[in-house]
Amino acid sequence: MTLFIDDNLEQLPDGRVVCRHCGQVLGDAAQPLREARVRETAPATAGPSVRENASRFTDRPVVFRQTFCPTCLTQLQAEIVPGDEPSSRHRSLAVDA
Ligand SMILES: [Zn+2]
Repeated sequence: MTLFIDDNLEQLPDGRVVCRHCGQVLGDAAQPLREARVRETAPATAGPSVRENASRFTDRPVVFRQTFCPTCLTQLQAEIVPGDEPSSRHRSLAVDA
């Protein structure tokens, strides 16, 4: 059974996670976006609603991190996070048998 994850991702019966737009294999249940491409830019590039400089609130570097399908370049997720941390967004796809 194919598992709908979100508008851009699905998990195939064999456990692979693929892009719903082009079929590119992106990962598996443990690491759904392992093969995705990541771009990090300044938080202000997220749009006009991000105006304050993060250095006013923290000494840590803050980045706008976008994750894309490497084949069709669909944006799979976006987050403004400390640049020295891994993604804070997680998808739990594991199913107990
Ligand atoms: Zn794709």
